[in-house]
Amino acid sequence: MMSTAKRNSNHQKKDSMKRIFTLLMLLLFTGSLALTAKPRKAAPVLQPRVEPTFWWAGMKNPHLQLMVHGQDIGQSRVVVNHPGIRLLSVTTVENPNYLFIDLDLAQAIPGKFDLLFQKEGKTLATTTYELKEREPGSALRQGFNSSDAMYLVMPDRFANGDPGNDAVEGMKENPDRTDLRGRQGGDIKGLRDHLDYIADMGFTAIWLNPLLENDMPATSYHGYATTDFYKVDPRYGSNEEYRAFAEEARGKGIKLIMDMIFNHCGLEHWWMKDMPMADWINQFPDYQITNHVKTLNQDPYASAYDKEQFTDGWFVSSMPDLNQRNPFMATYLIQNSIWWIEYVHLAGIRMDTYPYPDKEMMAAWNDRIREEYPDFNIVGEEWHMNQAILSYWQKGKSNLDGYRGNLRSLMDFPLQSAVSTALRDPGTGDLMKIYECLANDFQYPDPQNLVVFPDNHDMTRFFVQVNRNAELFKMGIGFFLTTRGIPQIYYGSEIMMNHTGTHDSEFRKPFPGGWPGDAINGFTGQGLSDSEKEVQQFTRKLLNWRKGKEVIHTGQTRHFLPWEGCYVFFRYNDQEKVMVVLNKNPRQTELNTGRLAEMMKGCTSAREVITGKEISSLTSLTLPPQSISIFELRK
Ligand code: CA
Repeated sequence: MMSTAKRNSNHQKKDSMKRIFTLLMLLLFTGSLALTAKPRKAAPVLQPRVEPTFWWAGMKNPHLQLMVHGQDIGQSRVVVNHPGIRLLSVTTVENPNYLFIDLDLAQAIPGKFDLLFQKEGKTLATTTYELKEREPGSALRQGFNSSDAMYLVMPDRFANGDPGNDAVEGMKENPDRTDLRGRQGGDIKGLRDHLDYIADMGFTAIWLNPLLENDMPATSYHGYATTDFYKVDPRYGSNEEYRAFAEEARGKGIKLIMDMIFNHCGLEHWWMKDMPMADWINQFPDYQITNHVKTLNQDPYASAYDKEQFTDGWFVSSMPDLNQRNPFMATYLIQNSIWWIEYVHLAGIRMDTYPYPDKEMMAAWNDRIREEYPDFNIVGEEWHMNQAILSYWQKGKSNLDGYRGNLRSLMDFPLQSAVSTALRDPGTGDLMKIYECLANDFQYPDPQNLVVFPDNHDMTRFFVQVNRNAELFKMGIGFFLTTRGIPQIYYGSEIMMNHTGTHDSEFRKPFPGGWPGDAINGFTGQGLSDSEKEVQQFTRKLLNWRKGKEVIHTGQTRHFLPWEGCYVFFRYNDQEKVMVVLNKNPRQTELNTGRLAEMMKGCTSAREVITGKEISSLTSLTLPPQSISIFELRK
C-alpha cells in the first residue's frame, strides 16, 4: 500500500519557498493580498497513484510493470534505490499524468522501497512500495476441479451481515430495498455469517459475482461495471475483509473463485476522466456497440469490419471496451488478476464475456497464469449452444486457424439448455436432447473440466424453466450433480427459489433469511414449504455424497439411448460403478435392464443413494414417476 513518503527536507523547504513566491505573485496580480496575508499551510506534496498497489517477491516471472498516475508525473525522473531491484525502463505516454515503470525483481527480497519522482534534481514525490512475502505453497495451490461443487452467489443478494455499510457516503448509488434493480445491502459479512450453512450443504467452492468497486449511478448491484480494479466495493466490505473471508472459507474446505471482467470497465472508472492514451479503450468517432455475434472469432469467412465491431464495440453504453491490444492495458489486466490470486489466495477465476476481448491476449493471459500457478483453474463464459464454438477455446484443442486458446474450462451452456428443454418439453422423447448433447463431448479436449449448471444469475431460474415442477427440478439438479464436469448451483436453487417477472433482477432476489425481519429463512428452514425443504435436503444429501465419490469426480461415462421415457447413464472406474436413471414418465415405471448388460454384468445388488433403499434384484427396476434414481452397484 502507498504510505506517507519520507521526504528530503531541503527539497521540501525549497519547494515551500517556491510555492510561497508563486502565491505572492498570484495574489499581487489579483490585488487581494490584504485578504489573505495570514500564514497558509503549504500545499501537500503530490502523491501519485501506483498500481498494482503492492506486489510480491519470488514470483516465477520477475517482471513487474507499475502504472503511475499523478499530475505531470510524466515529466519526472524515476529513481529506485534498492539493492535487488533493477529499473528496466520508464515509459512516458501521450498523457503527461502517467508513467509506466518496468522493474526486474529477479533478485528482490520482500520489504519496502521508495520510488522517487524527481525533476531538476528535486524530489517532487516519494512513494513507498512494498514487495510482500509469498505464502508457502502459493504457486502450487490446487485450483477448483471436478471433485468440487460450486455455489454461485451474488454478493448484494445473499445476506446483509452489516446494515451499516448499505449506504456509503460519497458513493453514487444508495440502497433501495423497494426495487430489485437497486442495491439490497448484502455483503461479505453476510457471506461469512453463513459459511457454515454453505459448507454443511456440501459445497466445496464459492463463485462470487464481481465485488470490486462499482461506483455507478444506477444498477450497480450486479458488479459488472468495475470502477476500481484494486478495491472491493465498500458496500460489501474491504479488501482485508474479502481476504479474511477467503481464509475462513478455506479453513472450512471451500475454495474461492473470483469473477473477473477483462472486456470492459464502468464508465465511472477513475481513469475515464484522464486516460493514459487514446487507445487505452476502443473508441469510435460515433459510439459503436458490439454486434454480439460470437462466431466471428471462429468464422473463416468473417469480414474484418464485422470482427472489429464484435471485439471493439462496447458491450453497453455504460461500459467502455478495454483495448487488450494495447500492451500496457494487457499487462495491467494480467497483473491485476495475479494480484487478486495471490492476495486472496484464490482457487479459480470465472472470466466474464470470454469471447469479447482480444483473443490473442486472452491466450497469453492463460499462459501467464499457468506459469505462476500450474494447478490453477479458469472457467470462461462463452454463452453459445454450439460445442464447436466452446471447444475452440479449450486448452489442447487443435484449431484449423492455428489458434491455441489455452483456457482450461468453459461454462457448459449447451448442456444447460439441453437438460432444461429435455425436462420442460412435454414429450418423453426429449431426453434424446441430453444424450445428443453429451455425444458432442468428442469436440472437447477435456470435457471433465467443464462447469455444468442448471441456471445462473443471467437466466430464468431453473425451477421456472421446468414449469415449476418440483419433480422435474430435482431430476435436473440430480443430473448435474452426477454427470461429468464441475457442478455449479446458483444460490437459492437449493430451496427452489421462484419468480414471476422476466426482468433479470427477478432471477437475483435476496435469499430469504439473509435480512433482518425476513419471514422466511432458507438457512434455518423456517417458513419454507414442505417441497422446498425436501429439495434442500435432497441437494444437501447429494452434494455431501458427491464429495467423497471419486467415481463421479473422475470416472468414465457410458450412456444408453433413451427408451421408454428413461435415460440411463453410468459413471465408473476400476473400483466403483454408479448407475443414474432419469424417468420422465408421469407414472411409476418398471424398467427392464436387459439392454444394460454390458455395464451391469456381475452386479447383483445396489443401494439407491437418495432413498437409501437396498435393491436385491437388478433385472427390473421400479422407478417413481418423474424421478431421478442413483444406484451404487455392487458385485
Ligand atoms: Ca450491508
